[in-house]
Amino acid sequence: MKEDILSDKLLNELEIYGVSRRDFLKYCATTAAILGISELEFTSGIAYALEKPTSGKPAVLWIEGQACAGCTIALTQVSYPPIASIILDKISVRYDHTIMAAAGHLAEKVYEDTVKQGGYILIVEGATPSADDRFHMGGGMPFRKRLEESARNSTAVLAVGACSAYGGIPRACPSKGIGVSEVLNKAKINKPVVNISTCPVHPDHLIGTILYVLVTGKVPELDSKGRPAMYFGEVSMHDNCRRRAHFDAGEFLKDWNDPKQKNWCLLEKGCKGPVSYIDCTVRRWNEGISFCLDCGGLCQACGEPVFYDKVTPLYTAESEISQKILAMREAGLLMKENS
Ligand code: SF4
Ligand code: SF4
Ligand code: SF4
Repeated sequence: MKEDILSDKLLNELEIYGVSRRDFLKYCATTAAILGISELEFTSGIAYALEKPTSGKPAVLWIEGQACAGCTIALTQVSYPPIASIILDKISVRYDHTIMAAAGHLAEKVYEDTVKQGGYILIVEGATPSADDRFHMGGGMPFRKRLEESARNSTAVLAVGACSAYGGIPRACPSKGIGVSEVLNKAKINKPVVNISTCPVHPDHLIGTILYVLVTGKVPELDSKGRPAMYFGEVSMHDNCRRRAHFDAGEFLKDWNDPKQKNWCLLEKGCKGPVSYIDCTVRRWNEGISFCLDCGGLCQACGEPVFYDKVTPLYTAESEISQKILAMREAGLLMKENS
């Protein structure tokens, strides 16, 4: 029985956070279904991780290259479900220079000790400059070196956010930022890398992937772009969009100020939904409240390798990708039966 897995100590602790046994089991059942893990395996894995003494907990090392810290902020804003926050609180995040209290030599000592010990999950936020190492130095070394040395001793590497996965915005800058896989391939470091792209990282995607690695000890199934298949790669934004009926009817928004056009298709304003294979239309953002297309913004394919240089300018259909999408429309490739 999965109820028996939860000790009184753990249940008491959850109660302090206002989480009942029922809530916890419900959360485990839902999350296990999304992750494709058996409910029993998930519940016992999480209970085990939560009950371990601090010294035995799986360590998480979070390093940051060319980034805006938006991915860290996205994660720290998570408040629902509280259970996910509790699990993350209890995982040992040893080093994250944006949110850790320690600084200077003390912080570097934590980093060095953790790397020496090995066996941690490495989370990487931000791109690595490929034009010249001096574009990003920290802790007395180039970021590239920090990434290489910390990846070597890790069990798995999670590249969070578009910058870390494929270069993102820094790829369009003089530093020519590149993603984690590219850095590790160049250095011939063979580690499993999970690209949890989008700008910023979606907290559900990150928490789900961490939980998967924690419970199973391996990385989840990936799509052709190295992203967790449970969240990416299946259905295009375009096929699930609530503006889709207007696309099919040939109604394309041209004037933002015309109330009649409010819900029309945004393709001609530069929407990249047809090449975006992410679950935003069903998962949405900000704890399920809304997401780009439902609040009048365009999809900029922020989780795809083409983001950012090939999707700009953002609010017209002039980018390389928009031109490709318009050509696909002309060829009739964006209609339901063809997609
Ligand atoms: S992916 Fe976006 S939010 Fe995350 S660090 Fe890069 S620019 Fe910032
Ligand atoms: S082009 Fe964009 S706005 Fe139009 S239906 Fe497709 S995803 Fe929705
Ligand atoms: S709708 Fe598009 S741009 Fe917005 S978060 Fe999702 S993938 Fe990124």
